[in-house]
Amino acid sequence: MCTSLTTCEWKKVFYEKMEVAKPADSWELIIDPNLKPNELAPGWKQYLEQHASGRFHCTWCWHTWQSANVVILFHMYLDRAQRAGSVRMRVFKQLCYECGTARLDESSMLEENIECLVDNLITSLREQCYEEDGGQYRIHVASRPDSGPHRSEFCEACQEGIVHWKPSEKLLEEEATFSGASKSRAREGSGYNFFSLRWCLFWASLCLLVVYLQFSFRRSTFL
Ligand SMILES: [Zn+2]
Ligand SMILES: [Zn+2]
Repeated sequence: MCTSLTTCEWKKVFYEKMEVAKPADSWELIIDPNLKPNELAPGWKQYLEQHASGRFHCTWCWHTWQSANVVILFHMYLDRAQRAGSVRMRVFKQLCYECGTARLDESSMLEENIECLVDNLITSLREQCYEEDGGQYRIHVASRPDSGPHRSEFCEACQEGIVHWKPSEKLLEEEATFSGASKSRAREGSGYNFFSLRWCLFWASLCLLVVYLQFSFRRSTFL
């Protein structure tokens, strides 16, 4: 069952990729908002994605924001005899810092981003459940905007004691090589304020024009 578009997308991408990676085994993906870090049943393995980027949306004030520090927790288990495995997943939410409501909404992620995150999950699955060499983990830098400092007081993961927002050296390295891309993203990020300032100027000049026209109209009728 899909509870949202993002959940559907996650399941779709995961099932497609698992079908290719492990065609003989059947895997299921379950969204579990009550998953706790390091609390594992026997045989279960954990994978923590600490630098996912995602978009959040507040249904109260319509504010949307982007975070490059989204934490996603996965617990996974493979039943070798049944050839069946399951993954439980929890996306840690962020509070809206515009209206300050204690409303935690589901984050939505871009599809390309989900692909990367599922690749990382499968790499970890191969390593921990199949004892294989899973290969390299992917860090999706292209869709990583310059979103400023992480606000721990609004982050569910930070509140539960997960230290995640300090970028690792590897990340900094990659960001340096992709600085061109992140610079253009930064400009996009500040675009919103610039845009609203432009609109203010536009409305101000429109008002001036109306006042001017009114005056000139009156002058012409009195002459
Ligand atoms: Zn809000
Ligand atoms: Zn945090």
